[in-house]
Amino acid sequence: MGSKALPDKCPLCGGIKKAGKTTFTVDLGFGVVVVRDVPATVCSQCGMDWIEDRIHQN
Ligand SMILES: [Zn+2]
Repeated sequence: MGSKALPDKCPLCGGIKKAGKTTFTVDLGFGVVVVRDVPATVCSQCGMDWIEDRIHQN
């Protein structure tokens, strides 16, 4: 699978993306796992976040 570079601007609002942390939630079917303080890129304007490193569900 090829990787596509993320644009520097938020596709939703055009705001500036910056490095930050977010809370990542994975629904495993039998339960939900919450991972806090996940390094992510966060929009400084609308707060949308993108996880930088793929988290594998295994
Ligand atoms: Zn945004």
